[in-house]
Amino acid sequence: MAERITGHTELIGLMAYPIRHSSSPAIHNEAFAYLGLDYAYLAFEVDNDTLEDAIKGMRALQMPGANLSMPNKAAVIPYLDDLSPAARLCGAVNTIVNKDGFLTGHITDGVGYMQALKGDGIDVIGKKMTIAGSGGAATAIQIQAALDGVKEISIFNIKDKFWDNAKETVDKITEQTDCKAALYDLADLDKLKEEIEDSYLFANATGMGMKPREGQTYIPDKSFFRPELIVTDVVYSPAETAMLKMAKEAGCKTMNGMGMLLFQAAEAFYLWTGKEMPIDHMKKTLKFD
Ligand code: NAD
Repeated sequence: MAERITGHTELIGLMAYPIRHSSSPAIHNEAFAYLGLDYAYLAFEVDNDTLEDAIKGMRALQMPGANLSMPNKAAVIPYLDDLSPAARLCGAVNTIVNKDGFLTGHITDGVGYMQALKGDGIDVIGKKMTIAGSGGAATAIQIQAALDGVKEISIFNIKDKFWDNAKETVDKITEQTDCKAALYDLADLDKLKEEIEDSYLFANATGMGMKPREGQTYIPDKSFFRPELIVTDVVYSPAETAMLKMAKEAGCKTMNGMGMLLFQAAEAFYLWTGKEMPIDHMKKTLKFD
Protein backbone atom coordinates (compact mmCIF):
# COMPACT_ATOMS: atom_id res chain seq x y z
CA MET A 1 0.00 0.00 0.00
CA ALA A 2 2.91 2.38 0.82
CA GLU A 3 4.08 1.92 -2.78
CA ARG A 4 0.61 2.19 -4.27
CA ILE A 5 -0.59 5.46 -2.67
CA THR A 6 1.24 8.47 -4.13
CA GLY A 7 0.74 12.21 -4.32
CA HIS A 8 -1.32 11.58 -7.45
CA THR A 9 -3.64 8.90 -6.10
CA GLU A 10 -7.30 9.82 -6.52
CA LEU A 11 -9.94 8.97 -3.92
CA ILE A 12 -13.26 7.26 -4.56
CA GLY A 13 -15.59 7.19 -1.54
CA LEU A 14 -18.49 5.01 -0.47
CA MET A 15 -21.01 7.04 1.55
CA ALA A 16 -23.54 5.09 3.59
CA TYR A 17 -24.52 4.10 7.11
CA PRO A 18 -23.96 1.43 8.33
CA ILE A 19 -21.15 0.55 5.92
CA ARG A 20 -18.26 -1.18 7.70
CA HIS A 21 -19.47 -4.63 6.47
CA SER A 22 -19.31 -3.62 2.78
CA SER A 23 -17.37 -5.71 0.25
CA SER A 24 -17.09 -2.75 -2.18
CA PRO A 25 -13.67 -1.49 -0.92
CA ALA A 26 -12.20 -4.97 -1.39
CA ILE A 27 -13.68 -5.29 -4.89
CA HIS A 28 -12.59 -1.88 -6.20
CA ASN A 29 -9.13 -1.75 -4.57
CA GLU A 30 -8.34 -5.22 -5.92
CA ALA A 31 -9.37 -4.11 -9.43
CA PHE A 32 -7.38 -0.83 -9.21
CA ALA A 33 -4.27 -2.70 -8.04
CA TYR A 34 -4.64 -5.44 -10.69
CA LEU A 35 -4.92 -2.91 -13.53
CA GLY A 36 -2.32 -0.53 -12.02
CA LEU A 37 -4.82 2.34 -11.80
CA ASP A 38 -3.92 5.15 -9.40
CA TYR A 39 -7.10 5.25 -7.33
CA ALA A 40 -7.97 4.26 -3.75
CA TYR A 41 -11.47 3.38 -2.51
CA LEU A 42 -12.54 4.01 1.09
CA ALA A 43 -15.82 3.63 2.97
CA PHE A 44 -17.18 6.62 4.92
CA GLU A 45 -19.97 6.54 7.48
CA VAL A 46 -22.29 9.19 6.04
CA ASP A 47 -26.01 9.46 6.79
CA ASN A 48 -28.67 11.95 5.65
CA ASP A 49 -27.48 14.52 8.24
CA THR A 50 -23.93 14.67 6.88
CA LEU A 51 -24.63 13.88 3.21
CA GLU A 52 -24.74 17.46 1.91
CA ASP A 53 -21.36 18.26 3.52
CA ALA A 54 -19.92 15.00 2.17
CA ILE A 55 -20.95 15.92 -1.38
CA LYS A 56 -19.50 19.42 -0.94
CA GLY A 57 -16.31 17.72 0.28
CA MET A 58 -16.30 15.52 -2.80
CA ARG A 59 -16.40 18.63 -4.97
CA ALA A 60 -13.73 20.45 -2.90
CA LEU A 61 -11.37 17.46 -2.93
CA GLN A 62 -12.04 16.85 -6.64
CA MET A 63 -12.83 13.21 -5.96
CA PRO A 64 -13.58 11.60 -9.35
CA GLY A 65 -16.40 9.48 -8.03
CA ALA A 66 -18.36 7.92 -5.22
CA ASN A 67 -20.76 5.13 -4.40
CA LEU A 68 -23.82 5.57 -2.21
CA SER A 69 -25.91 3.08 -0.33
CA MET A 70 -28.69 3.31 2.22
CA PRO A 71 -29.86 5.72 3.56
CA ASN A 72 -28.48 8.07 0.90
CA LYS A 73 -29.61 6.68 -2.46
CA ALA A 74 -32.61 9.03 -2.89
CA ALA A 75 -31.51 11.76 -0.46
CA VAL A 76 -28.43 12.61 -2.56
CA ILE A 77 -30.42 13.67 -5.65
CA PRO A 78 -30.90 17.37 -4.69
CA TYR A 79 -27.10 17.79 -4.33
CA LEU A 80 -26.28 16.53 -7.84
CA ASP A 81 -26.17 18.38 -11.18
CA ASP A 82 -27.67 15.67 -13.41
CA LEU A 83 -29.01 12.10 -13.40
CA SER A 84 -28.71 9.20 -15.85
CA PRO A 85 -32.05 8.13 -17.41
CA ALA A 86 -32.18 5.01 -15.18
CA ALA A 87 -31.38 6.98 -12.01
CA ARG A 88 -34.07 9.52 -12.91
CA LEU A 89 -36.66 6.76 -13.42
CA CYS A 90 -35.62 4.90 -10.26
CA GLY A 91 -35.40 8.05 -8.13
CA ALA A 92 -32.19 6.59 -6.72
CA VAL A 93 -28.43 6.90 -7.18
CA ASN A 94 -25.67 4.49 -6.16
CA THR A 95 -22.81 5.99 -8.20
CA ILE A 96 -21.62 9.56 -8.73
CA VAL A 97 -19.28 10.64 -11.50
CA ASN A 98 -17.49 13.97 -10.98
CA LYS A 99 -16.46 15.51 -14.29
CA ASP A 100 -14.70 18.83 -13.65
CA GLY A 101 -17.04 19.65 -10.79
CA PHE A 102 -20.23 18.52 -12.58
CA LEU A 103 -21.76 15.65 -10.61
CA THR A 104 -23.92 13.07 -12.42
CA GLY A 105 -25.84 10.40 -10.50
CA HIS A 106 -26.16 6.88 -11.90
CA ILE A 107 -27.79 3.67 -10.67
CA THR A 108 -25.75 0.59 -11.59
CA ASP A 109 -27.69 -2.16 -9.75
CA GLY A 110 -30.03 -2.81 -12.69
CA VAL A 111 -27.18 -2.77 -15.22
CA GLY A 112 -25.36 -5.15 -12.88
CA TYR A 113 -28.27 -7.60 -12.94
CA MET A 114 -28.66 -7.42 -16.72
CA GLN A 115 -24.89 -7.84 -17.25
CA ALA A 116 -24.84 -10.80 -14.87
CA LEU A 117 -27.58 -12.48 -16.94
CA LYS A 118 -25.59 -11.84 -20.11
CA GLY A 119 -22.45 -13.22 -18.46
CA ASP A 120 -24.34 -16.44 -17.75
CA GLY A 121 -25.59 -16.66 -21.36
CA ILE A 122 -29.17 -15.68 -20.43
CA ASP A 123 -30.96 -13.42 -22.95
CA VAL A 124 -34.21 -11.96 -21.61
CA ILE A 125 -34.43 -9.14 -24.18
CA GLY A 126 -37.74 -9.22 -26.09
CA LYS A 127 -39.16 -11.75 -23.62
CA LYS A 128 -41.40 -11.76 -20.53
CA MET A 129 -40.12 -11.84 -16.95
CA THR A 130 -41.93 -12.14 -13.64
CA ILE A 131 -40.27 -10.55 -10.62
CA ALA A 132 -41.10 -10.33 -6.91
CA GLY A 133 -40.16 -7.15 -5.05
CA SER A 134 -40.42 -3.39 -5.32
CA GLY A 135 -37.67 -2.11 -3.04
CA GLY A 136 -34.34 -0.66 -4.14
CA ALA A 137 -32.92 -3.75 -5.85
CA ALA A 138 -36.20 -4.71 -7.53
CA THR A 139 -36.94 -1.22 -8.88
CA ALA A 140 -33.45 -0.88 -10.36
CA ILE A 141 -33.81 -4.26 -12.11
CA GLN A 142 -37.33 -3.52 -13.40
CA ILE A 143 -36.39 -0.09 -14.79
CA GLN A 144 -33.18 -1.34 -16.45
CA ALA A 145 -34.92 -4.41 -17.88
CA ALA A 146 -37.60 -2.16 -19.39
CA LEU A 147 -35.01 0.29 -20.77
CA ASP A 148 -32.95 -2.57 -22.22
CA GLY A 149 -35.91 -4.04 -24.15
CA VAL A 150 -37.54 -6.73 -22.01
CA LYS A 151 -41.01 -7.10 -23.59
CA GLU A 152 -43.17 -7.63 -20.52
CA ILE A 153 -42.67 -7.49 -16.74
CA SER A 154 -45.14 -8.88 -14.20
CA ILE A 155 -44.33 -7.49 -10.76
CA PHE A 156 -45.51 -9.14 -7.54
CA ASN A 157 -45.23 -7.60 -4.07
CA ILE A 158 -46.82 -8.04 -0.66
CA LYS A 159 -49.15 -5.20 0.36
CA ASP A 160 -46.61 -3.42 2.56
CA LYS A 161 -45.03 0.05 2.43
CA PHE A 162 -43.40 -0.80 -0.92
CA TRP A 163 -46.74 -1.37 -2.71
CA ASP A 164 -47.16 2.28 -3.79
CA ASN A 165 -43.62 2.31 -5.12
CA ALA A 166 -44.48 -0.73 -7.25
CA LYS A 167 -47.51 1.12 -8.66
CA GLU A 168 -45.30 4.11 -9.54
CA THR A 169 -42.75 1.84 -11.22
CA VAL A 170 -45.47 0.25 -13.36
CA ASP A 171 -46.71 3.72 -14.39
CA LYS A 172 -43.20 4.95 -15.24
CA ILE A 173 -42.38 1.83 -17.28
CA THR A 174 -45.70 2.03 -19.13
CA GLU A 175 -45.41 5.75 -19.89
CA GLN A 176 -41.69 6.02 -20.61
CA THR A 177 -40.61 2.72 -22.17
CA ASP A 178 -41.91 0.20 -24.74
CA CYS A 179 -42.22 -2.49 -22.08
CA LYS A 180 -45.61 -3.72 -20.81
CA ALA A 181 -45.77 -3.83 -16.99
CA ALA A 182 -48.38 -4.99 -14.46
CA LEU A 183 -48.56 -5.30 -10.67
CA TYR A 184 -50.08 -8.16 -8.64
CA ASP A 185 -50.38 -9.06 -4.98
CA LEU A 186 -47.79 -11.68 -3.99
CA ALA A 187 -50.48 -13.23 -1.77
CA ASP A 188 -52.34 -14.26 -4.97
CA LEU A 189 -50.42 -17.48 -5.59
CA ASP A 190 -52.71 -18.66 -8.43
CA LYS A 191 -51.89 -15.47 -10.33
CA LEU A 192 -48.19 -15.86 -9.50
CA LYS A 193 -48.21 -19.38 -10.97
CA GLU A 194 -50.09 -18.19 -14.06
CA GLU A 195 -47.64 -15.33 -14.71
CA ILE A 196 -44.57 -17.53 -14.16
CA GLU A 197 -45.98 -20.15 -16.55
CA ASP A 198 -45.57 -17.98 -19.66
CA SER A 199 -42.44 -16.17 -18.48
CA TYR A 200 -38.91 -16.85 -19.72
CA LEU A 201 -37.47 -15.87 -16.34
CA PHE A 202 -38.56 -15.53 -12.70
CA ALA A 203 -36.60 -13.27 -10.35
CA ASN A 204 -36.72 -12.91 -6.59
CA ALA A 205 -35.73 -9.31 -5.77
CA THR A 206 -36.85 -9.34 -2.13
CA GLY A 207 -34.80 -10.25 0.95
CA MET A 208 -36.72 -13.54 1.25
CA GLY A 209 -34.23 -16.38 1.67
CA MET A 210 -31.59 -14.39 3.54
CA LYS A 211 -31.42 -13.70 7.26
CA PRO A 212 -33.79 -13.44 9.14
CA ARG A 213 -35.75 -15.43 6.50
CA GLU A 214 -33.00 -17.86 5.57
CA GLY A 215 -34.41 -21.24 4.44
CA GLN A 216 -37.81 -19.67 3.56
CA THR A 217 -39.51 -18.94 0.23
CA TYR A 218 -42.96 -17.69 -0.83
CA ILE A 219 -42.96 -20.24 -3.70
CA PRO A 220 -45.20 -23.03 -2.33
CA ASP A 221 -43.79 -25.96 -4.31
CA LYS A 222 -41.81 -27.13 -7.35
CA SER A 223 -44.89 -27.14 -9.61
CA PHE A 224 -44.38 -23.35 -10.01
CA PHE A 225 -41.17 -24.04 -11.95
CA ARG A 226 -40.74 -25.88 -15.27
CA PRO A 227 -37.27 -26.98 -16.50
CA GLU A 228 -37.06 -24.33 -19.28
CA LEU A 229 -37.60 -21.46 -16.79
CA ILE A 230 -34.62 -19.35 -15.67
CA VAL A 231 -34.79 -18.58 -11.94
CA THR A 232 -32.65 -15.83 -10.38
CA ASP A 233 -32.22 -14.43 -6.89
CA VAL A 234 -30.73 -11.09 -5.79
CA VAL A 235 -29.70 -12.74 -2.53
CA TYR A 236 -26.03 -13.82 -2.51
CA SER A 237 -25.68 -14.94 1.10
CA PRO A 238 -26.52 -17.78 1.32
CA ALA A 239 -25.26 -18.55 -2.19
CA GLU A 240 -28.18 -20.93 -2.67
CA THR A 241 -31.51 -19.81 -1.21
CA ALA A 242 -34.37 -22.23 -0.57
CA MET A 243 -36.01 -20.90 -3.75
CA LEU A 244 -32.92 -21.54 -5.92
CA LYS A 245 -32.59 -25.04 -4.41
CA MET A 246 -36.21 -25.75 -5.34
CA ALA A 247 -35.64 -24.36 -8.86
CA LYS A 248 -32.57 -26.55 -9.36
CA GLU A 249 -34.56 -29.60 -8.25
CA ALA A 250 -37.19 -28.65 -10.85
CA GLY A 251 -34.43 -28.66 -13.50
CA CYS A 252 -34.17 -24.86 -13.98
CA LYS A 253 -31.04 -22.89 -14.79
CA THR A 254 -30.41 -20.58 -11.81
CA MET A 255 -28.36 -17.48 -10.95
CA ASN A 256 -27.76 -16.02 -7.48
CA GLY A 257 -27.02 -12.37 -6.53
CA MET A 258 -23.20 -12.60 -6.72
CA GLY A 259 -23.08 -11.64 -10.38
CA MET A 260 -25.30 -8.60 -9.84
CA LEU A 261 -23.06 -7.49 -6.95
CA LEU A 262 -19.92 -7.82 -9.04
CA PHE A 263 -21.33 -6.30 -12.24
CA GLN A 264 -22.91 -3.29 -10.48
CA ALA A 265 -19.41 -2.58 -9.15
CA ALA A 266 -17.94 -3.16 -12.63
CA GLU A 267 -20.32 -0.62 -14.16
CA ALA A 268 -19.40 2.03 -11.53
CA PHE A 269 -15.70 1.20 -12.07
CA TYR A 270 -16.13 1.74 -15.81
CA LEU A 271 -17.96 5.05 -15.29
CA TRP A 272 -15.07 6.37 -13.13
CA THR A 273 -12.06 4.96 -14.97
CA GLY A 274 -13.20 4.17 -18.52
CA LYS A 275 -11.71 0.69 -17.96
CA GLU A 276 -13.44 -2.71 -17.81
CA MET A 277 -13.19 -4.39 -14.43
CA PRO A 278 -11.18 -7.65 -14.80
CA ILE A 279 -14.20 -9.87 -14.11
CA ASP A 280 -12.52 -13.29 -14.31
CA HIS A 281 -9.72 -12.17 -11.99
CA MET A 282 -12.25 -10.67 -9.55
CA LYS A 283 -14.33 -13.86 -9.52
CA LYS A 284 -11.25 -15.92 -8.70
CA THR A 285 -9.80 -13.54 -6.14
CA LEU A 286 -13.04 -12.79 -4.34
CA LYS A 287 -14.28 -16.39 -4.64
CA PHE A 288 -17.44 -15.24 -6.44
CA ASP A 289 -17.85 -18.47 -8.39
P1 NAD B 1 -35.73 -3.06 0.30
O1 NAD B 1 -35.91 -2.98 1.78
O2 NAD B 1 -35.63 -1.81 -0.49
O3 NAD B 1 -36.96 -3.92 -0.32
C1 NAD B 1 -37.43 -5.08 0.31
C2 NAD B 1 -38.42 -5.81 -0.58
O4 NAD B 1 -38.75 -7.07 0.06
C3 NAD B 1 -39.76 -5.09 -0.77
O5 NAD B 1 -40.25 -5.34 -2.07
C4 NAD B 1 -40.65 -5.77 0.27
O6 NAD B 1 -42.02 -5.67 -0.03
C5 NAD B 1 -40.16 -7.19 0.17
N1 NAD B 1 -40.47 -8.01 1.34
C6 NAD B 1 -40.21 -7.73 2.63
N2 NAD B 1 -40.66 -8.74 3.42
C7 NAD B 1 -41.18 -9.67 2.59
C8 NAD B 1 -41.82 -10.93 2.80
N3 NAD B 1 -41.99 -11.44 4.01
N4 NAD B 1 -42.25 -11.62 1.71
C9 NAD B 1 -42.08 -11.12 0.46
N5 NAD B 1 -41.52 -9.93 0.21
C10 NAD B 1 -41.07 -9.22 1.26
O7 NAD B 1 -34.48 -3.99 0.07
P2 NAD B 1 -33.50 -4.03 -1.20
O8 NAD B 1 -32.40 -3.07 -0.99
O9 NAD B 1 -34.29 -3.97 -2.43
O10 NAD B 1 -32.86 -5.49 -1.00
C11 NAD B 1 -33.63 -6.66 -1.23
C12 NAD B 1 -32.66 -7.84 -1.31
O11 NAD B 1 -31.78 -7.64 -2.40
C13 NAD B 1 -31.78 -8.03 -0.09
O12 NAD B 1 -31.66 -9.40 0.15
C14 NAD B 1 -30.44 -7.47 -0.53
O13 NAD B 1 -29.35 -8.10 0.12
C15 NAD B 1 -30.44 -7.85 -1.99
N6 NAD B 1 -29.62 -6.98 -2.84
C16 NAD B 1 -28.71 -7.59 -3.63
C17 NAD B 1 -27.93 -6.83 -4.47
C18 NAD B 1 -26.92 -7.52 -5.34
O14 NAD B 1 -26.06 -6.84 -5.91
N7 NAD B 1 -27.00 -8.83 -5.49
C19 NAD B 1 -28.07 -5.44 -4.50
C20 NAD B 1 -29.02 -4.84 -3.68
C21 NAD B 1 -29.79 -5.63 -2.84
